[in-house]
Amino acid sequence: MSGIPDFDVIVVGAGFSGLAAAVAVADSGGRVAVLEARDRVGGRVETEDLGGGAWIDLGGTWAGPAQDRILHMAERFGVELFEQYADGKNVVDLGGRLRSYSGTIPRVGLGPLLDMGRLQFSAGRAAKKVDPAAPWDARNAGFLDAITLADWLRNHRFGEVATSLLSIAGRTVWGAEPREMSMLYVLQYISSAGGLNALLDTEGGGQHWRFQGGASMVAQGMASSLPQGAVKLGHPVSEIVDDGAGVTISGQGPDGPFELRGGRVVVALPSPLRSKISFSPELPVEAASAATGWKMGNLTKCFAVYDEPFWRKDGFTGEALTDAAPGALTFDVSPPDGSCGILVGFAGGDDARTLEGLDSNGRRDLVLAGFARLYGEKALRPDGWWERAWGAQEWSRGGPVAIAPPGALTFARDALAKPFGRIHWAGTETSQLRAGFIDGAIRSGERAASEAIGFAEF
Ligand SMILES: Cc1cc2nc3c(=O)[nH]c(=O)nc-3n(C[C@H](O)[C@H](O)[C@H](O)COP(=O)(O)OP(=O)(O)OC[C@H]3O[C@@H](n4cnc5c(N)ncnc54)[C@H](O)[C@@H]3O)c2cc1C
Repeated sequence: MSGIPDFDVIVVGAGFSGLAAAVAVADSGGRVAVLEARDRVGGRVETEDLGGGAWIDLGGTWAGPAQDRILHMAERFGVELFEQYADGKNVVDLGGRLRSYSGTIPRVGLGPLLDMGRLQFSAGRAAKKVDPAAPWDARNAGFLDAITLADWLRNHRFGEVATSLLSIAGRTVWGAEPREMSMLYVLQYISSAGGLNALLDTEGGGQHWRFQGGASMVAQGMASSLPQGAVKLGHPVSEIVDDGAGVTISGQGPDGPFELRGGRVVVALPSPLRSKISFSPELPVEAASAATGWKMGNLTKCFAVYDEPFWRKDGFTGEALTDAAPGALTFDVSPPDGSCGILVGFAGGDDARTLEGLDSNGRRDLVLAGFARLYGEKALRPDGWWERAWGAQEWSRGGPVAIAPPGALTFARDALAKPFGRIHWAGTETSQLRAGFIDGAIRSGERAASEAIGFAEF
């Protein structure tokens, strides 16, 4: 099929990457349409309004100081930020021993502490040698891509405490176990985030600010800035045909089959979800492997809502890490005025799979028992309970991010993001900076849009 395109650029997916691409095209005067499978925008960012000024972010939640693209979008669309609550002591609960500490260094004893310092130093130094734009060119890329994070931890003989702490943090950062991820991928991710502190820290790091009203307020602002009708919800794309003169995008919409004609297409999905779309001509094998060779992490967020943030009275920040139960990393995500108390627990990797095997009462009991270990018996009796298993979401199939198993990066190389004909690739996984974050998603959308706009004549 040929003919004059209805749109200069068609975007597939209305997560932050797709919305950023669409906003960039519209800003340059181009005609743009966004096709979104779900009945909402935001993708892996979704906010549930609890009423009375309280909300929960079921997916992406925080932003950090270095994340200039999301900070820009929040400012442009009038969404205020406030600091993550961090007054008081954090808790670490390992091997049956609960310890509280202030600042960023857990009280785990001198030996384990030195070991953690060694781990941080080694991982940081190794990450600095990996260019996030071309990790496959790192000096020992082949070796690093052949081993997993678990192999690397073992090879360096890190002790039990340091290994447990990194594994628990990793289950939340990637939704995966150390045995599942290529070490080259892990180093690229750390490097792309700007280092381990930027990735893991609350104050000054990736968890510094939350968005007033929830992170999806920014996505809604971006969507509503587009021309009326440009965002088409309930439009899952199943086929993309590039005939050399333009692209034809089709699928099954709410009112039957749809077909749109565009000059170029930006596919703004987590890379494993590309496999749900049929491409013609067929993707080169390296590009296809970005869909089939990567897999989504698995992450569940559990929320307990209380009449007040009672842990604050006991001098706790609400930030804790435990190996005793799923929901192993907790944060205080109460509204800024503290009018009610909300604790979130993250269950990633095997913990997410453990929860999947239970019924809803079993999941709640297990996670709340973990909260009670950390903050006392009151944690067992919340007024409200919410959970979001991202692995069960048809149009995400996991979260927070797609991970690369051993071999995937050095095989696909730049095919994850390299345009193929009139097809351009976005999605946080394709970003060179802050991949995995909302900020990375926006960057990837803006980069893909500028590639597409570069060819367009409008
Ligand atoms: C639990 C969780 C916690 C997180 N916490 C944070 C955080 O605190 N801070 C942070 O910066 N990041 C966080 N993230 C990551 C962040 O949410 C993502 O990096 C970002 O939202 C990804 O945006 P995206 O546009 O790349 O992909 P997505 O948001 O996945 O967008 C893709 C869109 O495409 C749609 N789609 C899929 N298939 C099709 C199809 N065939 N046709 C049409 N549409 C389709 C999907 O419905 C979706 O809307 C978190 C993620 C999760 C899941």
